[in-house]
Amino acid sequence: MNIIEPIVTCCFCGQSLLFKNAVLISVSLSSNIEEAQGLYAHKSCLDKVLHESIPRLITLPDDE
Ligand SMILES: [Zn+2]
Repeated sequence: MNIIEPIVTCCFCGQSLLFKNAVLISVSLSSNIEEAQGLYAHKSCLDKVLHESIPRLITLPDDE
């Protein structure tokens, strides 16, 4: 029996990746934190767009 792993789309490059390997980004307006949107990304794509001065407070997994 094959197990199908959930696939998500990276919000930066548009390519597919396994849900278990994705970074989840939560987006909400500071004026309305009750509404939020979840976005998925490759770790490498997130690293590329974040300015080097922005600290990474969690250890991001390597892309697989
Ligand atoms: Zn990507």
